[in-house]
Amino acid sequence: MKKMLAMVLAVVLCASVLAGCGSKDNGAKKLTVGTNAEFPPFEYVGDDGQPDGFDVALIKAIGEKMGREVVVENMAFESLVAAVGTKIDVAIAGMTVNDERKQSVDFSENYYEAVQYVIVKKGSDIKTADDLKGKNIGVQIGTTGMFLAEDIENANVKSYNKGLDAVNDLRNDRVDLVIIDKNPAMVFQSKYQDELEIMDGADFDFEKEYYAIACPKGSDIVAEINAAIDSLKQDGTFDKLVQKYIEE
Ligand code: GLN
Repeated sequence: MKKMLAMVLAVVLCASVLAGCGSKDNGAKKLTVGTNAEFPPFEYVGDDGQPDGFDVALIKAIGEKMGREVVVENMAFESLVAAVGTKIDVAIAGMTVNDERKQSVDFSENYYEAVQYVIVKKGSDIKTADDLKGKNIGVQIGTTGMFLAEDIENANVKSYNKGLDAVNDLRNDRVDLVIIDKNPAMVFQSKYQDELEIMDGADFDFEKEYYAIACPKGSDIVAEINAAIDSLKQDGTFDKLVQKYIEE
């Protein structure tokens, strides 16, 4: 009987220790944040297997200002907008503000300016907007790069779960070019410098885009997040993160 009691106690003790460790509960209300950690330098899986990158660091700093413990959920980019307000509190994923998304979510203030870039193999004869017509174009599914590619005359758009998969198909000649945001394009090109070239989308008349944090429609959290961003800009944290993750 004593043995039994000891065992029960041991189990209860273990369970409570485990629960404590798992949730690291310091009383702070959690902020559950969705991202898609396939978009360097904004989000990627770090050496320790955890999501890292500019956006992840930014939202953690925002959470700190708000007094909330940030929990990051890594999920498919396409499913982020629908998950805001249900599965996750907010989404940060190098997400471009556009009218379609605005029908489902409210955006924070813009925190980064971007533009789509074109990645080609070295020696490619693709140089102008006209050259994009009728080409096989690799994109990441559900992104502004994909929407833009779909508007190109006679283009055959091939969409991938990860931008890097599109880049690998370009390397293997399965597509003629990849359209993806500037900074990830720069990261992917630097990975395969001998093989790939990048071109500024401004030269193809692609419009500027702006990243913001997607929040539930009508939620007070937008104002809280904006206040946190402003204060991170004022105290220099924002610039430090840009230097650390984007301009390093
Ligand atoms: N900025 C692009 C978009 O919002 C791509 C974002 C991403 O792939 N993470 O669609």
